[in-house]
Amino acid sequence: MQLLDGKKLATEIKLEIAEEVRKIKAAGKKIPHLVAVLVGEDGASQTYVASKVKSCEEVGFKSTLFKLKKDITENELLTKINLLNNDDSVDGFIVQLPLPKHINEEKIMLAIAPEKDVDGFHPTNVGRMTLNLPSYVSATPKGILEMLNRYNIETEGKHCVVIGRSNIVGLPMSLLMQRRSKPGNCTVTICHSKTNDLAKYTLQADIIIAALGKPKFLTADMVKKGAVVIDVGITRVVDASTKSGFKLLGDVDFEHVQKKCSYISPVPGGVGLMTVVSLLQNTLSAAKEEFYKKSMSFGLDEL
Ligand code: NAD
Repeated sequence: MQLLDGKKLATEIKLEIAEEVRKIKAAGKKIPHLVAVLVGEDGASQTYVASKVKSCEEVGFKSTLFKLKKDITENELLTKINLLNNDDSVDGFIVQLPLPKHINEEKIMLAIAPEKDVDGFHPTNVGRMTLNLPSYVSATPKGILEMLNRYNIETEGKHCVVIGRSNIVGLPMSLLMQRRSKPGNCTVTICHSKTNDLAKYTLQADIIIAALGKPKFLTADMVKKGAVVIDVGITRVVDASTKSGFKLLGDVDFEHVQKKCSYISPVPGGVGLMTVVSLLQNTLSAAKEEFYKKSMSFGLDEL
């Protein structure tokens, strides 16, 4: 079994990005600028946003964090988004999810200009990704592709089972794994909460991507010998023995599953760190206008 070391990869990729930033600076150009919008005081969201801001600093990006009160109205948040859409100093921005219940997440997502949507959640970016056109790809699936690629894991002709069909992980992941590209070219089965006899599918899988949010859900008896197992799940559980008072658990029963697989990603230290790095890569793409020209709205005039 080989560990898919997200920490090592993330460090490697951050150094590569930092080198690009140095070149951008040396050429006298504007350094990439990511803005994060955080609404309310959700503990997990605060941790995620802090790690994104810290990563920006590590690679030499400019970052700005807007902390907005949890009772901000939907219209006030939409106004903020409109300002960011039209602020030329901002290359890309994210609105950290989940949002408070009184705010419609769909409406917020649709309000973000696709050319600044470095989370890759806007339908324009999802549609372009689906058609294998250049676009921002949602950070977690993008990070998983990068992981498969850098570990040189063959995906062509393999059977990939994705557990979970959320818009930010499972659904894009399944679409990416079947695309005519590398990594890709898999035969994909997407399983979800209504799938009967899930083990019937996972036992046939060469690659399993578990993204359901249920700690230690995937057990050794559900995994074929030699399979590649990617654990996306992150659940915070109370643990008095740690300094923070909690620990993170993945969706895979790592201790037992690792004995059966060829490759496995750990939690923590796996996909989570790749996700942050993907966001940096998307921001760099935005700064370099790789997918869209600046000040073109809604993807109609992309390069
Ligand atoms: P979600 O709650 O939006 O979706 C969960 C999916 O799992 C749903 O599609 C549901 O149908 C499926 N599901 C639930 N129970 C199931 C069952 N018993 N059998 C099969 N499928 C089942 O969650 P999400 O946003 O996709 O996140 C999934 C997990 O990944 C969470 O733990 C989340 O914290 C984590 N996550 C990690 C990262 C990262 O960077 N590593 C990023 C995003 C999400």
